[in-house]
Amino acid sequence: MSIPKTMKAAVLFDYGDLRVTEMPVPELDAGEALVKVDSVAICGSDPGIIARGWQGYTPLGSFIPGHEFTGVVVATAPDVIRLKVGDRVAVEPHKGCGRCENCLRGLYTTCLNYGNLELGHRHYGFSTNGGYAEYAACHDTTLHKLPDSISFEEGALLTAVGTVMYGYERIGWVRPGETVVVTGPGALGLISARLAKILGAGCVILTGTREERLAIGRQMGVDITLNVHEVDVLQKIMELTNGIGADMVVECSGQPGPAAQAMEIVRKNGRISYNGVYREAVSLPLNKIVQWNLLITGPKAEGMWNLERAIPLMADGRLNLKPLITHRFSLDQINTAFDTFTGRVGGAIKVIVKPESVS
Ligand SMILES: [Zn+2]
Ligand SMILES: [Zn+2]
Repeated sequence: MSIPKTMKAAVLFDYGDLRVTEMPVPELDAGEALVKVDSVAICGSDPGIIARGWQGYTPLGSFIPGHEFTGVVVATAPDVIRLKVGDRVAVEPHKGCGRCENCLRGLYTTCLNYGNLELGHRHYGFSTNGGYAEYAACHDTTLHKLPDSISFEEGALLTAVGTVMYGYERIGWVRPGETVVVTGPGALGLISARLAKILGAGCVILTGTREERLAIGRQMGVDITLNVHEVDVLQKIMELTNGIGADMVVECSGQPGPAAQAMEIVRKNGRISYNGVYREAVSLPLNKIVQWNLLITGPKAEGMWNLERAIPLMADGRLNLKPLITHRFSLDQINTAFDTFTGRVGGAIKVIVKPESVS
């Protein structure tokens, strides 16, 4: 396959100034593969990265955002043996340094050398170049082979699935028959609800404000949906659980109200996973954590190679993410794609950007 010298890419010239321009195709370092990008999913964190960068790590002027993407391997560095040209792959955004204590324990999303390029840390689309381009150079350890039964578009959601899986890993998974309440029917919430069913939950309750998203939840197998505008969620969940509360609450709204209410919904000895992005401090009754023996965790992104174990669940159709993919745009239309995503135009949930033109 002939690889051109230059490519189209969406570059962050300044905060809020994302434009498609011509860029050199990246050269490969040791351990890297060149991926010809097929599909990139817009993530809820992308608009913030474009508006103000990521925690001071995002460079300007030649930086390419985008971190939930799939494509085909078109070249490999000589030391890459796990992958070959022609492999269909999904990219995991975090590449830890591989030598700090956290990385050595598989906790590479909390690498102690975050942002240190010389030590080998990469965070594609956050601190180093990502996927809104025709090509991306990605380290071997961040690539997951996709079987033919997973489309590139669905595969672009694998990172989101990995985050949900890692959240469940940290909270001790779902025990068979448990009642799991998921608050917030965005992409992470809908995936969390579906995965709870796959993991053996007895009853999955999804709460939210948007009826069309709750309907997608029902389509994905949620047992009960509660619209917070129509019912008293706390009262209803207590009714449904004989006054005891839910075994687990997976908070995905990122809003202070549901984040605080999770402490009231959960049962004694229950677990709460905070999966949202919280922009403000929320006060929680800490003594209840002690007196009620609660377990509370939160996943930092995908972690512990969970993307790999999500692949079989997607490949055989158990985890069908097609209902979440609402829009597709070509790379040239990237700003329209972002407007559609942030404005939730036409019920947008997951918006896919494709370097090749979309008809
Ligand atoms: Zn993301
Ligand atoms: Zn590390």
